[in-house]
Amino acid sequence: MKWFNYLYRESLKHEHPKTVVVCCITRGGRILGTGFNKFKGPNSFGRHAEIDCLNRVTDGYGATAWILRRRADGSVGIAKPCKKCEAALREAGIKRVRYTETMKIEYGEEKYA
Ligand SMILES: [Zn+2]
Repeated sequence: MKWFNYLYRESLKHEHPKTVVVCCITRGGRILGTGFNKFKGPNSFGRHAEIDCLNRVTDGYGATAWILRRRADGSVGIAKPCKKCEAALREAGIKRVRYTETMKIEYGEEKYA
């Protein structure tokens, strides 16, 4: 899955004691934007990756959002969007969301009709 591979590489550009979340939005095989979670401190998150990403995308209509969580030990964890991000993605016209689920890198999927 090339977008998850891309997100994993991007996640390595950021360090955090616990976890880095990266989100990109694509349409027609092109990246419209990429975002990261911002940190207030080691135990608190500021802006979520999905919101950071949406802020960089002018038109997300019909696009797909891809989300990956990398833990500090390099393993991949569940990156299902929270309710607030889910609502923001939906409002931006995002059609499909795919996110990492487990350390084995299975992929979850949600479709927004
Ligand atoms: Zn969120």
